[in-house]
Amino acid sequence: MIPYPHLLCPICGDTLTTTDKNAFCPQNHNFDRARQGYLNLQLSPVKTQYTKILYRARQHLFCNGVFDPLVSGLSNLIACQHTPSQSVSRPAHTHSTNPRNPHPRAATVLDAGCGDGSLLAALIQKIFDLHPVPNRTDPPQTVLGLGIDICKDAIKIAAQTHPTLTWCVADLARPPIADNTQDIIFNILAPANYAEFRRLLAPGGVLIKVMPGPDHFKEIRQALCPLEETQDSVPNTLRQQIPLQFSVSETRRLTYDVPAAENIEHFIHMSPLSWHTLPEKKEAALNGRLQKIRLDYILMSLKESYIPEC
Ligand SMILES: [Zn+2]
Repeated sequence: MIPYPHLLCPICGDTLTTTDKNAFCPQNHNFDRARQGYLNLQLSPVKTQYTKILYRARQHLFCNGVFDPLVSGLSNLIACQHTPSQSVSRPAHTHSTNPRNPHPRAATVLDAGCGDGSLLAALIQKIFDLHPVPNRTDPPQTVLGLGIDICKDAIKIAAQTHPTLTWCVADLARPPIADNTQDIIFNILAPANYAEFRRLLAPGGVLIKVMPGPDHFKEIRQALCPLEETQDSVPNTLRQQIPLQFSVSETRRLTYDVPAAENIEHFIHMSPLSWHTLPEKKEAALNGRLQKIRLDYILMSLKESYIPEC
């Protein structure tokens, strides 16, 4: 288990020291690691509708390669945000130029609302395959990946599957992470807290926001909720929600189809659309003759805006 230096105590806000067994702060607040290796930094348990079944379904889809184009699209977007002289992992302001320094600052990648963690694990590998840290022969060792989610079941699965990354149950309302420490923050199909993202981003860091496009799950939506109107304005509406403190560097739309036969059951388990759907409608969707399912994502890279003082 790699020690993670940027966690804060959720009780007093002091720095947490992490070990294989636990995490503790100078005020002696102590958090034991769960058997699976994650830390629970959520002070009061939160009930969510997200269940193990949902995250297991997502893992099946991941293994089927359903999210491979999304992972490639995101890593390409990241690669385009940086010139070779501005490595994603070592922004100029923190880059140690002292060759005798054995521990220059590592790259930090946070997935806020990471679910089962499959995307973060794949993205970390992909990004640094594409965009190695200069003068490093083994770039992934310099990356500190952290996934947080409010759902304990999701974090449990993430920690079991990807033990080399750091996983915490934590609330996006106030993530227990130190200020200005994250080079890349992913927020993928999850609720956003822009004020906190701004607090967490290192200078020069990038926030990657992914939201569903208007055709996302089109066929499943039509099967489960046939009367629902097409939400043409979704990307525009969401874009308007980006606060002024962030500027949009780039927006890309990624649409692709995946075969329905081997994936439809997992999609239905995964989709919140099915939570309030009658079982017979789900059954009809499963037994329908869907050939394909359209996935539609809006990918945005956001940077802190420069707001001149008046
Ligand atoms: Zn404390």
